[in-house]
Amino acid sequence: MSSTLKAVRGTRDLLPPETALWNRVEATARFVFARYGFGEIRTPILESTELFARGVGEETDIVSKEMYTWEDRARAASEKAQSLTLRPENTAGVVRAYIEHKLGDTGHLQKLYYIGPQFRRERPQKGRYRQFFQIGAEVIGPVTSGSESPLRDAEVLEMLATLLDELGIERASESNGYKGWKLTLNSVGSATDRPRYVAALREALSPIKHLMCEDNQRRAETNPLRVLDSKDEADQELIDRLPKIADYLDDDSKSHFAQVLSALDACGIPYSVNPRLVRGLDYYTRTTFEFTVETGLGTQNALLGGGRYDGLSEMIGGPKAPGIGFAIGEDRLILTLQAQATEAAEKKLDAYIAPMGVEQNAAALSLARDLRREGLSIEVGDGSFRLKKSFEIADRVARSILILGEDEVTSGEITVKNFATGEQRKIARDDLPELLR
Ligand code: AMP
Repeated sequence: MSSTLKAVRGTRDLLPPETALWNRVEATARFVFARYGFGEIRTPILESTELFARGVGEETDIVSKEMYTWEDRARAASEKAQSLTLRPENTAGVVRAYIEHKLGDTGHLQKLYYIGPQFRRERPQKGRYRQFFQIGAEVIGPVTSGSESPLRDAEVLEMLATLLDELGIERASESNGYKGWKLTLNSVGSATDRPRYVAALREALSPIKHLMCEDNQRRAETNPLRVLDSKDEADQELIDRLPKIADYLDDDSKSHFAQVLSALDACGIPYSVNPRLVRGLDYYTRTTFEFTVETGLGTQNALLGGGRYDGLSEMIGGPKAPGIGFAIGEDRLILTLQAQATEAAEKKLDAYIAPMGVEQNAAALSLARDLRREGLSIEVGDGSFRLKKSFEIADRVARSILILGEDEVTSGEITVKNFATGEQRKIARDDLPELLR
């Protein structure tokens, strides 16, 4: 018997009805982006390997170990074999297209968005796949088009907040236990600030790196900024004491960042600044940001990331073309929406009233009416009481069970059991609303 064939590890089939949710997310994204003047760009899934080596950076995790790269056969003697790569991200491809089609020559700011698959050879787990989907956007243009303005950074962040709001992803707040989305940002400085900071980091790391984990020892050599990203528990104290990028920003970068923050304040977008948020790719300058969510994603809680890349075009042979963009992990966005929907669906009623016999049915319904009018959510049993069965049903739909027997009806004292605490007691009818709330 031949073995059954399966989807390749880290890739998956998306089936109905789930694909309806994907379509809704994509339609909402297109609808929101259009209101901000963005148009769609579709670049090839294959690019020359060199684009990512030069754009994303040889020393990044993506380029050094996660790309699907191969030598494409030459088809004629006159052709040379070419190294090709399945795109691991889409910003480099968009900037390549910007250069190739001379979009800068229009003199206008380009606002482009994309939706499509990306490929990285990562260890698969929930929320992390080898083929995953990103919804992203880029704002790029010659300096004269205003592409460097902090207003653009704030506009992109505000657009993301609007998109998440319209999709129904909650903002983190006290009332939802801070499970909604959170925006964290930082400035990693200009192309001149960054090397000064990296030099300072290298110097600070050199006497202490031998105390760090193996990964960080390697990063301290190859890409010291990545040490700041490290999640290694034991190294955190050492990392917290390293120099901070904020102390190396020049006046222009400082003022740029301050203007981004004040525009966010004006738009009522909550954020926190994290001086350690540097992000993994080489092309970032000035503003970098990340949106995280606690619901449904476990350890892979980064929903989207992005930042400014003022030097990227020049890194891949183009004209000066500052830009800013982001990429949303669509798979993670879907997981978040699904988790939220389940939480909403699993929200239990305040109480289940169990009449002990049909004789108590009328009293049960009258009690239910009173409690519902008090604003409580209530389900009522039908008098076919059986101890174990009734408790099981009640536990599935409600947070407490109220038992209504003959005694309870005459005394007006009702037996209440709270399933979470396991506590059971008799309580006066008038005190019920207070207790159940
Ligand atoms: P990055 O390009 O690494 O900044 O990623 C941007 C966003 O894409 C992340 O915040 C994730 O939501 C998503 N993402 C990155 N890698 C993966 C992956 N392997 N599987 C699923 N989503 C991913």
